[in-house]
Amino acid sequence: MERVKFDLKLMDGEILKRQEDKLKFIPPFSYGERSTCIDYKLVKGFGGDALVPVLKYNIFSEYEDLVHGFSTRLGGVSKKHLASMNLSFSRGDEEENVILNHRRFAAAVGYDENSLVFSDQLHNTNIHIVKKEDKGKGFLRESDIENIDALMTNEREIPLMTFYADCVPLFFYDPVNEAVALAHSGWKGTVEKIGMKVIGAMGDAYGSNPKNIICAIGPSICQECYEVDGDVIGKIRDAFDEKVYDDLFYKKDNGKYQLNLHQACRHTLLLAGIKEENIAMPDLCTCCNSNILFSHRASKGMRGNLAAVLMLK
Ligand SMILES: [Zn+2]
Repeated sequence: MERVKFDLKLMDGEILKRQEDKLKFIPPFSYGERSTCIDYKLVKGFGGDALVPVLKYNIFSEYEDLVHGFSTRLGGVSKKHLASMNLSFSRGDEEENVILNHRRFAAAVGYDENSLVFSDQLHNTNIHIVKKEDKGKGFLRESDIENIDALMTNEREIPLMTFYADCVPLFFYDPVNEAVALAHSGWKGTVEKIGMKVIGAMGDAYGSNPKNIICAIGPSICQECYEVDGDVIGKIRDAFDEKVYDDLFYKKDNGKYQLNLHQACRHTLLLAGIKEENIAMPDLCTCCNSNILFSHRASKGMRGNLAAVLMLK
């Protein structure tokens, strides 16, 4: 009798579909269509061949001189709770694993990892203007960009990178004056309106008009996963107009609240003069997808870091 042959080699399209099938999308708020798409590359030579997925925003797809992406947990070499694409040197991972992960992710997105610039992200609203002399700070050498949660530049070939595991990534691109910014907006940064501060800083430094700036709010914790205490809501109430409270939070029988950081960031961007149609809302929650994305809440802190990257080329 002839043996049945199994072909376990999946075609590229099937692998992509399998990864997408594992993601739980939340409905986008501003559009009827999905705002995030999943791209991937077969990367060779960094500890073996790997398929590296990259999350991208459709809103940026038409801009050819913009490189952007958001990582997933897939495609790296790290182990256990850091598996496998941990991009942070500060989560207890082996340094050589983090370096290999960076080389793979950079190859998949399309930038030079040796030029990466990081900051320390302390949940404040300080912004650093990144210049040529900052290239490599964080990856190639120690970063002296301290006490900073937002990076911006109008120089080319400098990939800016910020790190996440539930907090909100904010991407900014001014296609008219050619400038980019990335901001890390947890609840503290959101209360302090880091998004608005970045837009103001882009205006001061590069003459950016908010009407031209395209924004994406990246993968991060959704309202259904984000329970907070009354003291956080007190700060949200102080920071935002009463008219938008219904968008931002609701109270539960246990006295706690569910906070919508995505909507809080969106309202901040609108207040700063960004056009509604120029804001891409997130349709992926890190906590709902903690098998594929790192989530601080879902893992109770046992996790690596995802990364957002943005560069003018
Ligand atoms: Zn969720």
